[in-house]
Amino acid sequence: MTHRVVLIGHPVAHSFSGAMQQAAFDALGIDARYELWDRRQIELADAIAQLRGEDFLGANITIPHKEHVVPLVDRLTDAAQATGAVNVISREGKKLIGHNTDVLGFKTALDKLVGRQKMPRYAVVLGAGGAARAIVDALIGNGFQRVVIFNRHLHRAEALVKHFNRSAAHMDLRAMPWHESVLEAELSKTKVVINATSVGMVEGETPIPAELLLPDLMVMDLIYNPAQTQLLKDAAAAHCSTMNGESMLLQQGAHSFELWTGKTAPMDVMQAELDRAREHGLGQLSMDTGADGSSGASSPDQAAGPSA
Ligand code: NAP
Repeated sequence: MTHRVVLIGHPVAHSFSGAMQQAAFDALGIDARYELWDRRQIELADAIAQLRGEDFLGANITIPHKEHVVPLVDRLTDAAQATGAVNVISREGKKLIGHNTDVLGFKTALDKLVGRQKMPRYAVVLGAGGAARAIVDALIGNGFQRVVIFNRHLHRAEALVKHFNRSAAHMDLRAMPWHESVLEAELSKTKVVINATSVGMVEGETPIPAELLLPDLMVMDLIYNPAQTQLLKDAAAAHCSTMNGESMLLQQGAHSFELWTGKTAPMDVMQAELDRAREHGLGQLSMDTGADGSSGASSPDQAAGPSA
């Protein structure tokens, strides 16, 4: 039986996860197929129910469903519980287990960005969705003392802060309204900025004006496609150190692979596939657009933007 793993999100067509994971399955001779399922929120419960079928190893969950999927699985790991977000589902018999490998993926990427410098203690996070929750959990775990969340809809940032009430009791975790003057004041004090919004998936869009970026800031954009978002271009021009989301994608993907297969992920193969996708674009992966449209092969040109 050919096993199946699916990426469930909306949109999914531009994601590199499929190419990366399929290359890993093939390299290890695992008889499994990675599929892209484009599902709106109304279709999510049905999609998750299908994962209980014998042929499924599990799934990745991406934008915008990481929080919505929490009540649909049977058990959460500690990381998924701590964040309130799930990016990987594995199976134990008929039970679905919700994991969060974004936390570890981000930690490894942050270590690389910081390099030999001392780990900073103050960060600004843009966004309050599923990915931002993993970022905040990792920053708390890394000993950050002040983390400020800006989000288009303030109430979502406030809900995130409330969720981390206990684990962040020793530090200053706060939500602030997305006004340019407030953002400017916070950015002048911080050392690290992380874009965990989806703004930048469309070329040329950026979450913050270039003039707010000061030299020596460390700027991470979780978006990896395009590889150089407008935010990262502006940050490089302002002499900031920069990193896109590819390193995090690889790390979270390697942990996902190990949860589904029990085998060590072939990270060199996965990185090579990411290099290929970045240079030459995506090949023809199986994509299912659910009730919204017909099934067919994905094309990068059809995509509304990348997701994990
Ligand atoms: P999500 O749960 O849907 O959250 C989306 C976030 O983007 C929210 O904070 C939302 O703000 C904000 N946003 C969307 N459109 C906006 C706009 N026009 N203006 C301002 N803010 C806007 O998605 P997610 O799972 O957190 O993913 C967020 C991003 O991280 C995506 O680009 C995803 O691909 C990337 N990501 C990358 C990796 C990786 O491994 N590299 C892993 C995870 C996620 P509101 O709450 O106000 O709507």
